[in-house]
Amino acid sequence: MALTFDVTRRQDVVSDADRAAVLADPGFGNHFTDHMVTVTWTKGDGWHDAKVTPYGPISIDPSAAVLHYAQEIFEGMKAYRHADGSVWTFRPQQNAARFARSATRMALPVMQEADFIDALRALVTMDEAWVPPAGGGETSLYLRPFMFASEPFLGVRPANEVTFCVIASPAGAYFSGGVKPVSLWISTDFARAGDGGTGAAKCGGNYASSLAGQLEGAEHGCDQAVFLDSSSHTYIEELGGMNLFIVYKDGRLVTPELTGSILEGVTRDSILELSKDLGLQPEERRIPIQEWKDGAASGEIAEVFACGTAAVVTPVGELKWDGGSCDHRREGHDDKVALQIRSSLLDIQYGRVEDSRGWLTRLA
Ligand SMILES: *Cc1c(COP(=O)(O)O)cnc(C)c1O
Repeated sequence: MALTFDVTRRQDVVSDADRAAVLADPGFGNHFTDHMVTVTWTKGDGWHDAKVTPYGPISIDPSAAVLHYAQEIFEGMKAYRHADGSVWTFRPQQNAARFARSATRMALPVMQEADFIDALRALVTMDEAWVPPAGGGETSLYLRPFMFASEPFLGVRPANEVTFCVIASPAGAYFSGGVKPVSLWISTDFARAGDGGTGAAKCGGNYASSLAGQLEGAEHGCDQAVFLDSSSHTYIEELGGMNLFIVYKDGRLVTPELTGSILEGVTRDSILELSKDLGLQPEERRIPIQEWKDGAASGEIAEVFACGTAAVVTPVGELKWDGGSCDHRREGHDDKVALQIRSSLLDIQYGRVEDSRGWLTRLA
């Protein structure tokens, strides 16, 4: 049975003037809308008590399992305003399916696709005024569904009580001063995920385990860390929160194949799909890190870029490691393919071209 959302409106909603000030320069993840969605699951009753309430702190017991054993998952998506004022999201069925896979891996209950999308719609309908206006560049309303073990119990087993929430945060253009390549640090001391682990699940724990590698990268002057497979430290996996692509001079577009320790990005999948339209030859396979170093030196590699919902497509510049560095960029280099893929995706998301693949779902 489909969930119905009980609505309690916030009395002291943010004023039009204050909201406009936030939307003029939202940044990322700093500001939240007036409302949030909460749904409770219990072993006996399944999903119930779906509601939209004023945004605010949630009260959980100090013994709630998530605080001790990290039984938690999340998703990241965006709502885009089109020129006619309507609001859409991109391939939410993919996020719902991934959320279900993440849930199963973390022994959390599965939420049906229809309920997951209804929850997004319930929040965006209420807080539609927080979706930045069309024509403002790349602004959007970032949607963050998440689920955690809220049962107060210190024993180690899957929780019998779980809370699902959706919160939303207006997001500005990721690159405010124009697209700028990021530098990457090869993390060899730290892995973000291992064989049989949770790398393919979108869970907070993966992010916690990526932070030490990120910090090490920052100490070496890099913007992000790239993680290799944890057993041989040979093959490229991904960044802490973005997938990677390499563009070869001859038109091959190569990304690491999904080995179980890589997160299956919706952006990654969409790029593989779109690449054929752009005359590229997509390839999913294991990529030795040495291939990157050699390709940068020989000039075989034309571009490298990272991708994910938040930043869409981010060109990668220098690659650094303990004892060396390389950079595939040469004179006249312009990240042409990365920027072309980036605008192809944005054009679909913002309704500037026909959605021939049926990737958009209307939210408001
Ligand atoms: C979310 C995420 C991505 C990108 O996924 P998208 O669906 O494209 O946003 C890539 N890697 C990791 C580790 C992630 O958590």
